[in-house]
Amino acid sequence: MIRNYLGFPRGISGMRLALRARTQAVRFGARFLAGQEVTGLSIGGGPDGSHVVQLGDDTVRGRAILIATGVDYRRLDVEPLEALVGRGVNYGAAASTSREVKHKDVFVVGGGNSAGQAAVHLSRFARHVTIVVRRDGLAETMSNYLIREIEGNPRISVRPHTIVTDGGGEGHLEWLSLRDTEAGVDERVEAAGLYLLLGAQPTCHWLPPEVARDDLGFVLSGADTPWQSWQGGRPPAPYATTVPGVFVAGDIRCGSMKRVASASGEGAAVVPLVHQHLA
Ligand SMILES: Cc1cc2nc3c(=O)[nH]c(=O)nc-3n(C[C@H](O)[C@H](O)[C@H](O)COP(=O)(O)OP(=O)(O)OC[C@H]3O[C@@H](n4cnc5c(N)ncnc54)[C@H](O)[C@@H]3O)c2cc1C
Repeated sequence: MIRNYLGFPRGISGMRLALRARTQAVRFGARFLAGQEVTGLSIGGGPDGSHVVQLGDDTVRGRAILIATGVDYRRLDVEPLEALVGRGVNYGAAASTSREVKHKDVFVVGGGNSAGQAAVHLSRFARHVTIVVRRDGLAETMSNYLIREIEGNPRISVRPHTIVTDGGGEGHLEWLSLRDTEAGVDERVEAAGLYLLLGAQPTCHWLPPEVARDDLGFVLSGADTPWQSWQGGRPPAPYATTVPGVFVAGDIRCGSMKRVASASGEGAAVVPLVHQHLA
């Protein structure tokens, strides 16, 4: 459920938003090849130097390509909590909800840097922030500077070898059930917010090496591209990748905000770049 996208005061499900976007795009003349998986991209592989997109045994060609394949968010897979996404349960740090949790207890699940940063941010508003991790602690997964900051913050505590097994509330998250996996004991706690920072995998295994990516696989663009690929000492335009005519927008772009508004805005920002490239 997308609750903070401009123009939908009651929120809209991702599927309905995508269906509406599709209907609108078709009216503007876009053609959809639904149910097809992109399996490869051959740079300049067409007879006229265009790029060739592989769809299994089929191919399509394009003089400009926009990569917008998003990421696969790791899910918590606790059914009652999935039903409360956007109502106290958030995938990602959800900075917009910080004020809602003022003087309340919140929980962050995840042991990476994004979880640590979310906890530090939330501690400025919430009464207490608990970081829930499966492991013994944060040492293996979080940067030292963040661990020190968390240790020195009396409003943040860490619950090691713990998983979230259940939760609920009347229209909004009110409680969680936490299991200590070592002791095998469940505890029910009050919770006004749950922030799931379980990691996201970019879905771009099919991209060729010419399209530069960061260590995690997110596509690099603009000034983030390696300087060796720059032409005339200047980086490519924002949203342009290391391959002329190949652009990137949305969650798969390195440094993106992981929000619907930013993903669609980046897509719109690519349009003039495509026109420039074709010209
Ligand atoms: C549970 C949940 C709640 C969220 N809540 C919010 C919220 O409240 N507000 C908000 O702003 N954002 C929210 N987000 C984040 C938001 O959904 C993303 O930021 C946004 O969808 C990114 O858009 P995108 O176009 O980059 O990628 P996506 O929307 O992920 O679209 C990528 C598309 O590419 C397709 N694809 C991938 N690989 C291939 C391939 N090889 N061949 C063909 N197709 C492919 C995928 O199937 C998908 O349809 C939420 C995300 C989740 C998971």
